[in-house]
Amino acid sequence: MRRALVATALVLAVAATTACGKEGSPPAKGPRTDRLPQYTVATGFKLPGSPTWNKAKKRGHLIVGAKEDQPYLGEKDPASGRYTGFDIEIAKMVAASIGFDPNTTVFKTIASANRETALQNGQIDYYVGTYTINDNRKKLVGFAGPYYLAGQSLLVRSDENDIKGPQDLAGKRVCSAAGSTPYQRIEADYPKADLVAYDAYSVCVDNLLTYQVDAVTTDDAILTGYAAKVPDELKVVGKPFSQEPYGIGVPRSDNALRFAIDDALEANEKNGNWKKAYDATLGLSGVPAPQPPPIDRYPAS
Ligand code: GLU
Repeated sequence: MRRALVATALVLAVAATTACGKEGSPPAKGPRTDRLPQYTVATGFKLPGSPTWNKAKKRGHLIVGAKEDQPYLGEKDPASGRYTGFDIEIAKMVAASIGFDPNTTVFKTIASANRETALQNGQIDYYVGTYTINDNRKKLVGFAGPYYLAGQSLLVRSDENDIKGPQDLAGKRVCSAAGSTPYQRIEADYPKADLVAYDAYSVCVDNLLTYQVDAVTTDDAILTGYAAKVPDELKVVGKPFSQEPYGIGVPRSDNALRFAIDDALEANEKNGNWKKAYDATLGLSGVPAPQPPPIDRYPAS
């Protein structure tokens, strides 16, 4: 019985969010495609030391892992299949810098819990999708970057007054994505929270809108995007309570690819593409462009 109720709520919620939350509300603003940078494809670029790059060259295009339900970061248009957002732009600027036409890049949606396996199995060449660099993950994959610094935060309904920070989560139903650092942090540091996990944050947000959960927790960059789409119904509360440096995931042993992506990020931060891309995507959720964090070119392993 309970299962059936949850299933109905989910179907309703998905319908509600695709209709932008509220009946009669204007369509949410997508990225400003007219303001996106044009990336110049590096000619004659070669990376013979990278097995991943060689495989992609033979194939003729890159395959990049991403998210498809994170507003202004990585979103897939269900009709056209096109991906847009800040992470998608990061993936494209890197593609151009390492000699691929960014418009031929094939994006593949990979959930938080499946990123390491996708990189290890060669399903994708690299991954750009709110992917926090940390030492545990570095045992399994390599990370170029960081290219952005986020922090864990909380999303609640606008009528919520009790939850102002993670200290208020005891006995509350809190939703996050399986395999994510925010999920792991609540589990470890706030064990009194009633934690539930789904593959995707959009499912958590649907559950929040239908009163199945009391809060959604993940990075502020993701949550402000959801809140910006339905500002009457959702709000981000409190101060960020972690540091989530976003990296580009690469196969662990492919140091040549990792360093080439570090170079690409640095060049695009210098030439203004990074800021232009931010302003046309993630900047639309209301946070002005920060300074990108310094690249951490850690030694080859
Ligand atoms: N940045 C966090 C992580 O990598 C949360 C966002 C996500 O799940 O992609 O786990």
